[in-house]
Amino acid sequence: MKDPLPQTIYLKDYQVSPFLVDTTDLVFDLGDEQTRVTTKLAVRRNPASTDQVASLELNSKGSVELQWVEVDGQRLDNSAFSLTHNLLILPNLPASCVISTEVSIQPQLNTSMMGLYRSRTMYCTQCEAEGFRRITYFPDRPDIMSVFTVKIIADKVSYPVLLSNGNAIERADLDDGRHTVTWHDPFKKPSHLFALVAGTLSAVEDSFTTMSGRDIPLQIFVEEKDLDKCAHAMLSLKNSMRWDEEVYGREYDLDIFMIVAVDDFNMGAMENKGLNIFNTSAVLANPKTTTDAAFLRVEGIVAHEYFHNWSGNRVNVRDWFQLSLKEGFTVFRDSQFSSDMNSPTVKRIEDVSFLRTHQFAEDGGPMSHQVQPDSYMEINNFYTVTVYEKGSEIVRMYHSLLGAETYRKGSDLYFDRHDGEAVTIEEFVSAMEDASGRDLTQFRRWYKQSGTPVLKVRSAYDATAKTFSLNVEQSCPATPGQSEKLPFLIPVKLGLVGADGADMVLDDAGQTEVVFEMTEASQQLVIENIDERPVPSLLRGLSAPVKLDYPYSAEQLAHLMANDSDGFNRWDASQALSLSVLNQLMHDSLHERPMILDGQLVEAYKALLSDTSLDPAMVALMLQLPTEALLHENTDIIHVTAIHDARSFLRTALAGCLASQLEAIYHHYNAKQAYAPNVQQMGGRSLKNTALGYLMLVDRGVELAWAQFQSADNMTDQAAALTALVNCPEASDYAAKALSQFEEQFRDEALVMNLWLQVQATNAQPNGLERVQTLMDHSAFSMSNPNKIRSLIGGFANANHINFHNPDGSGYQFLTEQILALNTVNPQVAARLVTPLTKWKKFPEPNRELMKQALQNIANKPNLVKDLQEIVSKSL
Ligand SMILES: [Zn+2]
Repeated sequence: MKDPLPQTIYLKDYQVSPFLVDTTDLVFDLGDEQTRVTTKLAVRRNPASTDQVASLELNSKGSVELQWVEVDGQRLDNSAFSLTHNLLILPNLPASCVISTEVSIQPQLNTSMMGLYRSRTMYCTQCEAEGFRRITYFPDRPDIMSVFTVKIIADKVSYPVLLSNGNAIERADLDDGRHTVTWHDPFKKPSHLFALVAGTLSAVEDSFTTMSGRDIPLQIFVEEKDLDKCAHAMLSLKNSMRWDEEVYGREYDLDIFMIVAVDDFNMGAMENKGLNIFNTSAVLANPKTTTDAAFLRVEGIVAHEYFHNWSGNRVNVRDWFQLSLKEGFTVFRDSQFSSDMNSPTVKRIEDVSFLRTHQFAEDGGPMSHQVQPDSYMEINNFYTVTVYEKGSEIVRMYHSLLGAETYRKGSDLYFDRHDGEAVTIEEFVSAMEDASGRDLTQFRRWYKQSGTPVLKVRSAYDATAKTFSLNVEQSCPATPGQSEKLPFLIPVKLGLVGADGADMVLDDAGQTEVVFEMTEASQQLVIENIDERPVPSLLRGLSAPVKLDYPYSAEQLAHLMANDSDGFNRWDASQALSLSVLNQLMHDSLHERPMILDGQLVEAYKALLSDTSLDPAMVALMLQLPTEALLHENTDIIHVTAIHDARSFLRTALAGCLASQLEAIYHHYNAKQAYAPNVQQMGGRSLKNTALGYLMLVDRGVELAWAQFQSADNMTDQAAALTALVNCPEASDYAAKALSQFEEQFRDEALVMNLWLQVQATNAQPNGLERVQTLMDHSAFSMSNPNKIRSLIGGFANANHINFHNPDGSGYQFLTEQILALNTVNPQVAARLVTPLTKWKKFPEPNRELMKQALQNIANKPNLVKDLQEIVSKSL
């Protein structure tokens, strides 16, 4: 299991493959002890390669055991090929030939959840990025695209359902109680889109008629007990298929589309051609067991994976440095879809909150990297918020710079030009350039310069000339490997808000909003005919992934919060106002000065709660103070206790001032109505539960929360009440009762029990580590299931800051032990858990030294997998 010394792989070293694989025929004989895989590859020399005498190199990884090799039906003896740690090398091949191999593998022992493995009673696969080489010898790189035919043989009683990509072309029963199904996928695809599933599964079925009138059967395969949790995913799938036809002109291509739900899965879901494999947490949904947030997540992920059928599958990536080509683009597509299905403003606020908390933090830390990196050691470490979320922000900027219509022309051109090919980010930019006639040379810097740019804006109003001028400067901090940055092309969408709260007219055309395209390090924008000093509303909708530096006064922010016509910027003003108050409180707490509530913020919130015209979802978002994680990102030195205390003080003080209004809101939205997972109801529940969270702080919520917990007919309300009780020091009796009642009620629902673990893992009251350690022994927890690890260990390390960062170092020691326990068992999950420790440089002593020591302890472990080696070595 030991990885060799990790090698760095460079984009500049890319070379076309010397061989192509036209067809791939696989036979899987699934056995409890051994699984045999025979592989037949029709290979030929690649005319595009300069090396026409190269040997053929086939990758492998893990415990793939070679039985034999044949070339054109002739068995090779051992001297005719060489076999290294992870390569089978075949020299002296003719211009074209058929390579056959047989290997044995043991999926039942594969804990990495890459390649073919077992999840409970079923077999399933995960091949992106480099899992296919754990199944058989293959040139496992994305630019090798091949037509796959897959025959699966297995016991008919244990594995009645046998699935792979494409269409089923043959089924047969064998004499010995086994059966076989053969699948053929007519579309050329890379090996990372291969999938296989075998097990006892039940299916929910439906169908979709495409724009050209083809009837496509749709199937979602789950364990029988989960059949009642598939309706939402099916509806989301059909909505996605329709939306992609209407908005991008993309029609589905195969004769069937299948989704399979799997319990043990490293990621959310995987877009394998025609056979998407989903983590159960990303597909199952039912009001009784699923929160509103999880309903939205299911809708978004179903759409994301479906949209990959074009952005990723039909047009594929040439190499893994192009990952954002498919991911950034597809994240943007799924965010557009979710906006159209729900509230665009709420969706944008959620996306930006996530971007600021996680991507800005990554870009300011040791793992900061470009959207298109130049190098990596372990590609699994580059499935990052930068590649996904910042990549999506880049595509969003094409959309705003070019306009919806031209952007669509660009995407059509991209799909038409490159259908069936494996291409680069450059091809996407070229298609946008050719469709728009614009030179995007400078815009390309977004892919190659890391770090979060800062936009410093200063303004001046000239009452005599009636001009309002904005002086704008951009800069980007140094990041690992990049000390100097060139100016970005930054679209700055802005408006000016007058004293009456209305948008001012900005030009002769009567526009009240403009997009200013910043291209220089420093520029000035002068707006004429402005009759009074306005409040600028800058970067509306966060028109670029940058940080804004503008010296707003509290009065100006309150004005924007109450009046801005851009809903996103109204919310952003509430964040900026509470952030400035929190910064002052943190400062006071740190210097042991009394903390005092800011009157302006209270007045702004009172006005907010009195405005009945507002969408309740928006009010809820504006009431929610910046999270501790965001405060950590926003500060140079993370004083964990001061941040926690300042935020707790402000929440409690606000609750005291707003109690009557919050109570009225709570009762208004707590009115009984039949549950539906629609936008209106979700907004009401969100506001009600936000109000409940505040009321818990002033002795007015405990009885309400307990009543809500007992009477809730949906998981959103029940989980919110549980969380409120668990986090309330005065409600410990109720909390204990609620936890045990919840456990009793949902003992057999794995996903709900994950939530139960997470609520306790994130409980900020003292002794958090002891509670987590006790839960490690609970039957609801397992170190072999990634969802449970994320809920309990991840919840504690990422969201229970005050306990995790205990200055005695116990939290760090605990996390280190868990990471090392997972080292060779599941490298991918282990590597994800390290993130909180990598931020050590931002902490004061003693935490700084303790976190560094924890990383050092991980680095010192013999047999450290390269996933961990890369992150730890770059962080230290
Ligand atoms: Zn994706």
